Amino acid sequence: MELLIKEAARIIKESKSTIAFTGAGISVESGIPPFRGEHGLWNKYNPEVLDLGYFLTNAEECWIYIREIFYDFFAEAKPNEAHLTLAKMESSGIMNAVVTQNIDNLHYQAGSKTVYEFHGNSKKLKCLKCGKVYHAAEIDFTQIPPTCVNDGEVLKPDFIFFGEGIPSEAYSSSFAAAEKAEVCLIIGSTGEVTPASYVPRTAKQAGATIIEINPEETIFTSAITDIHLKGKASEILTLLGKQLF
Ligand code: NAD
Repeated sequence: MELLIKEAARIIKESKSTIAFTGAGISVESGIPPFRGEHGLWNKYNPEVLDLGYFLTNAEECWIYIREIFYDFFAEAKPNEAHLTLAKMESSGIMNAVVTQNIDNLHYQAGSKTVYEFHGNSKKLKCLKCGKVYHAAEIDFTQIPPTCVNDGEVLKPDFIFFGEGIPSEAYSSSFAAAEKAEVCLIIGSTGEVTPASYVPRTAKQAGATIIEINPEETIFTSAITDIHLKGKASEILTLLGKQLF
C-alpha cells in the first residue's frame, strides 16, 4: 500500500489538472451512512419520501422523515480528514475541483471552494411556487412542513429528488472539469448512480489517470481504475497528504 500511495502522490504532483469525484463513502466517517448496503439509510427509511411525485401530494408525511435524516442527523456531522485533505490540496494548488454527489455540505465546511454539487445541497430549501431560497439555519423545523413567507407554499430541500434533473450549472461545470482532468480521484462511490458516474468515465476517456479510494471494489474498479487505494477515505487521504504536503 505504501508504494501505491507514493505512486499516486507522484502522479498527482505531476498533474496540471486534478479533480475529485466523491460519493456517500467520504462522509461515512463523519457519521453519515450511505444509502445502500447493510447499514444504509434505505434499510431504515422508504426511498419514496424522496420521490418528487410522492412529496408533492404527501409533503407532511415526507417532511417527518426528511427532517430526521437531513436536518437532525446531518446537522451533527463534521468534515473528516478526507474532506480536509481535499480542501488543503485545493489551497496548495493541486486540486482544481471537487465534483460531489453528496448533499451534506461537508466539502464547503472543510474549506473547499470549487465544489460542484451534482445533486444539490440540503442546507438550502426552496419554495416550489415562487422560488424563494432559504438557508436551513433560518427554518423552524418544529413546524412541518416548513412553508414560504411569501405564499405559504411548502418548501422543498434544494437537493434533487428521484424524478428531478441535475442542476444545469453543476452538470456542465462537472463535465467541463472532467474533460480537462489529468487525474481523477474517485472517493467512496459505488458508481451506480447515473448520470453522476459518467463524470469519472468522461475523465478517463479524456486521458485522465483514475485513482480510486474505497474499502471495496466497485463497478469503476475493473472498468476504469488505474490505482485502487483500498481503505477508508480518511485513512488513505491522511497517508496521501503526508506524501503531498
Ligand atoms: P453509495 O451509497 O452507493 O456507496 C457508498 C460507497 O462508499 C460504497 O462503494 C462503499 O464501499 C464506500 N465506502 C463506505 N465506507 C467508506 C469509507 N469509510 N471510505 C471510503 N469509501 C467508503 O454512494 P454513492 O455512490 O455516493 O451514491 C449514493 C447516492 O446517495 C448519491 O447520489 C448521493 O447523493 C446520495 N447520498 C449522499 C449522502 C451524503 O450527502 N453524505 C449520504 C447518502 C447518500
